[in-house]
Amino acid sequence: MSVAYQLAPCVVCGHSDANVVADDDSMRLEVQALWAYHERRLKPGTPPRRLMDRVAFSEHPPFRLVQCNECGLVYRNPIERTVELEQIYAREPADPTVLGALHETQRAAYRDQARALHDVLGRRGSGLEVGSYFGGFLAAARDEGLQFEGVDVNAVANAFTRSHGFVVHDGTLGSVETDRAFDAIAIWNTFDQLADPRGTVNEAWKRLRPGGILAIRVPNGGYYARRRRTVFEGDGRSRAAALGALAQNNLLTFPYRYGFTPRSLSWLVSDGGFSVRRLRGDVLVPIGDEWTRAWARFEERLIKGVMRVAARRNVNRAPWFELYASRN
Ligand SMILES: [Zn+2]
Repeated sequence: MSVAYQLAPCVVCGHSDANVVADDDSMRLEVQALWAYHERRLKPGTPPRRLMDRVAFSEHPPFRLVQCNECGLVYRNPIERTVELEQIYAREPADPTVLGALHETQRAAYRDQARALHDVLGRRGSGLEVGSYFGGFLAAARDEGLQFEGVDVNAVANAFTRSHGFVVHDGTLGSVETDRAFDAIAIWNTFDQLADPRGTVNEAWKRLRPGGILAIRVPNGGYYARRRRTVFEGDGRSRAAALGALAQNNLLTFPYRYGFTPRSLSWLVSDGGFSVRRLRGDVLVPIGDEWTRAWARFEERLIKGVMRVAARRNVNRAPWFELYASRN
């Protein structure tokens, strides 16, 4: 599984040496494992749509994933064209009846990030969230005394968020005027899907005051690559544990464009004129819902509790992580 492979240079460090993490055949096995994992945990009679939701991001499965030998970045090869990804996101369906509930769930889930950001910033201030979706973080930030605006390509989501009294711009970070100087820019959920992460860091730099904070949350590509090896090469027990850990953190089949590691993301933002202030390991918010069997929800709480402790202690052992960096 660690065949050296020559390909286009890594977008972070420019090196070309990479190992194959997953090819087409093994990814197909992973998709099957993901379906089987969730099918077993859902109550009988669960609408197929709810199972689809859990693997919906596999719409464009990567047919080869590689990991850069120099900085650790995990990425797809070949990568899709930008146009395709923007279409996926722009057409994302939004059922008005569930938006309110989604907004409130996310508001609670983002309390941690709003506090961490406030803490690194050291005071109250203004901010911009890239990919503000239904405004969950904007509300959590307001609860913390931070004045955040949003920018998102999803017009339906933006209309909903504005109805809650927030300023939201249609578009991407690059379309927000550059005469603004925010105290903070947060990218919690979309950085791993961006076609041009380096360009996005540069765009953030232009819209932050000196000392302003850039906050990014991403899935940990290094964690995925390591645990995936256990899924395919480990013994029975460690294999089941690794499979569960990846599935619970929405890492199985790696439905992301880039898998940053603490090292590669630090490298990228340092190149872009930032100093890393804090790296914070985390787990994904609970994925169990009313369709999940009781034992499975209980098991998820246990597993994530243990994983969160390990993740906080060592960011490299975290399935997800956040980076907070100040603009030089
Ligand atoms: Zn690299």
